Amino acid sequence: MARVLFINAGSEGHINPTIGVVQELISRGEEVVYFTVEAFRERVEKTGATVRTFDGEAFMKAFLSGGRTYLLERINGLLHTADVVIPSVLEQIEGEHFDYMIHDSMFGCGRFLAQILKLPAISSCTSFAHTKDSFDSILEHLSQDITPKTLATIKEDYQNLKTKLKENYDVEIGSPYEVFCNPAPLTIIYTTREFKPSGDTFDPSYKFVGPSISHRPSIETVSLPDSKGNHLIYISLGTVFNQATEFYKLCFEAFGDSEQTVVMSIGQRTQKPALGKIPKNFIVENYVPQTEVLKEADLFITHGGMNSANEGLYYGVPLLVIPQSADQPMVAHQVVTIGAGKKLQMENLRVSQLREAAEAIMKQPSFRQQVKKISESFQRAGGYQQAVDEIFKFKAEIGI
Ligand code: UDP
Repeated sequence: MARVLFINAGSEGHINPTIGVVQELISRGEEVVYFTVEAFRERVEKTGATVRTFDGEAFMKAFLSGGRTYLLERINGLLHTADVVIPSVLEQIEGEHFDYMIHDSMFGCGRFLAQILKLPAISSCTSFAHTKDSFDSILEHLSQDITPKTLATIKEDYQNLKTKLKENYDVEIGSPYEVFCNPAPLTIIYTTREFKPSGDTFDPSYKFVGPSISHRPSIETVSLPDSKGNHLIYISLGTVFNQATEFYKLCFEAFGDSEQTVVMSIGQRTQKPALGKIPKNFIVENYVPQTEVLKEADLFITHGGMNSANEGLYYGVPLLVIPQSADQPMVAHQVVTIGAGKKLQMENLRVSQLREAAEAIMKQPSFRQQVKKISESFQRAGGYQQAVDEIFKFKAEIGI
């Protein structure tokens, strides 16, 4: 049995795929101490891990203080979070022994902590992974939009933060890539090489284990009416970029009072009364047990969060992707490329576009056939069990 230090600040999409991994680690005899924010305590505790937390509000405030407009600013934001995470983790584990750590590939300063604690580290990547080359070229491309003055200020902030981290924690930071992607000797990616654009450019330390979907006990339930052969459409913009009252109303117009049943998750920041009259064939909730709904769905209208796309395809549901931000345009592009659905732009979206795209996907058998193939390849990839096989191989290689 080994003791594992798990570091993951969330959001939900970063946490969910790790739930099965932690359950599996524990069932194979590992002891897991999982650091996250209070919001995820209950979910993680149910795995049998010991949960400890750092201040989620302070974390988010620090992250956002870097600026939100440019990728370089988000990198600075991640550097700001070090002062929230590192002292808190170090204080709470003082005097304890760990054999290795697993950290999120983005949130939680995993790479810094691995350096400080001198622990073998595994990165848990819930989005598309990047090689240093691919990340650097994205960063360069995105930096072209920044005025020279602003760019100079952001770069100066980066240097200052880097120096401060060196002084405070003796942490070496080689590049912005290290801050944003937290590379490690082993990276677990919860998709397949085939689904990842340029999947073949990753060296063997990247293990593509497919979606990690496990039973997620949830207090939320949704009771679906008997479909009577009619279609079920599921709509969700995920848990982060989901404040979209106008979009939800547009969905009412597109699919309201039709034969279809529509389940729509509107997120915690939109309240149902703000949407006006809800059509009879809609079930609207702030949060639904998504993987349960997907088992019954014929179409998933999604923002294209990596987890949502994975879960939809895993359960054989074609996707209509309406990307909002982050890696979602990339996911949308990939979904279209592999024939698993269509994409639409949120900007100036019209009722007719939404309805026509949805109908086209549900009517043309090619989408479902293609998605069936992807679903099979996702299920074959092994998910959390494969992830833990890879973790155990890694342990054996380094003599743990
Ligand atoms: N989710 C859920 N119920 C909801 C909305 C979201 O269970 O009503 C889960 C979903 O199954 C997925 C995660 O929240 O695992 C969202 O992650 P994703 O990467 O798709 O998007 P994000 O929320 O990070 O934008």
